[in-house]
Amino acid sequence: MPITLKASYFSANSPNSSSFHEDSLIEISDNGQITNIIHQTASEYSERLSAARQHDHLITLAPGHFLLPGFIDLHNHAPQWPQAGIALDRPLADWLNHYTFPLEARYADLDFATPVYQDLVTEMLANGTTTALYFGTIHNSANLRLAEICSQAGQRAFIGSVAMDNPDQTPDYYRDASPEEAINKTQTFVQAIQDTYRNGFIQPVITPRFIPSCTTETLQQLGQLAQSQHITVQTHCSESDWEHNYVRERYGHTDSEMLQSFGLLNQHSVLAHATQLTTTDQSIIKTEQAAIAHCPISNAYFGNGILPAHELLNQGIKIGLGSDIAGGYTPSLYANLQQAVTASQIRQDGVDATIAADQRGVANSRISAKQAFYMATVGGATSLGIQAGAIESGLLADFQIVQAPPRFASLTPDEQLEQLLFRHTRHQIKAVYVQGKLVHEKEHNWYE
Ligand SMILES: [Zn+2]
Repeated sequence: MPITLKASYFSANSPNSSSFHEDSLIEISDNGQITNIIHQTASEYSERLSAARQHDHLITLAPGHFLLPGFIDLHNHAPQWPQAGIALDRPLADWLNHYTFPLEARYADLDFATPVYQDLVTEMLANGTTTALYFGTIHNSANLRLAEICSQAGQRAFIGSVAMDNPDQTPDYYRDASPEEAINKTQTFVQAIQDTYRNGFIQPVITPRFIPSCTTETLQQLGQLAQSQHITVQTHCSESDWEHNYVRERYGHTDSEMLQSFGLLNQHSVLAHATQLTTTDQSIIKTEQAAIAHCPISNAYFGNGILPAHELLNQGIKIGLGSDIAGGYTPSLYANLQQAVTASQIRQDGVDATIAADQRGVANSRISAKQAFYMATVGGATSLGIQAGAIESGLLADFQIVQAPPRFASLTPDEQLEQLLFRHTRHQIKAVYVQGKLVHEKEHNWYE
């Protein structure tokens, strides 16, 4: 059934600007697309309002509630959900070998995988995340189960079957046996997803874990596959000192240079972290129109640096936000957008008070709440090439309905948005829609 939402909403237009409209009518078609938005000033406003009321299509948000676009998580390791919040004091290589690989190996067992994936997807929707780009494991059966769970729960998902076959950097018990196995498994997974979800609600992703875990042959063949089939690619890129230096030692080049040479960089590629990029890397990423998944919470533990988000946004490089479950401890993109702003402020000011203030930090690093909001919404949608991320006619109706904190003084729309984003708790997300369908409802009091 088509619906009309009468709502006050915020939506990002560009990194530096967002719009606010009060009590607009947002008309949504049967197939979950926003077909029309009528603002209060429009001449047909009252006519459309009574028509929606007459046809019983109207849903009016209760006072103090706002509509925001659904958030898009550009980097999430679904199988690491049981490990969220654990062992963040370990260096990356240690964390992978002692915690992550043993855990991911357990997904050979669907009875282990199923309740984890169900819980994660439910939690993500309750946090307002309407689309996610997931790493699975090396097991196609568990990856397909994750796809089924996302589809049933109504979360739009991009899912990768992880390729990792380098015996030097992966354990015996959790590795693709050969490049042939890594490639065949990827192809089978891509085909299975494309055959099952013909409407594209769930999409397959080519997923070399990262350069250290993969042999050169696998990286080359996955690159050929990505180029011939125009499928989304996800991987980690220059994510820590150890990882960045490993690739330089192995190839004499950086991650970005090597990913480009393998054919793994294009307008469908999403690169996680990227805290160690050189200026040449930045221009390669820009030229190839690849995107960066900024994971500020995870970066604080494993990144050995703070992503220059402000600089990258100014250069017009595509950036979205990622939770990086479980290098990040929370699936909330609110927590990540707050951290993105906080980390950028720390980058600007510096951290060592014994150094003179004018030499302590990196000037012009701070990003605004608006820029973080843009990354969580439009930035993510642009990176994945989906028609979502904003509240605009023609886009998909992916929304979250959020209750504002009590207001004691009048606020401008910009201040209201900032407060919604920064004083957020998960309990304020009252309802979530994906493609016009209600997929999460905390309680019924969000509409009149
Ligand atoms: Zn990751």
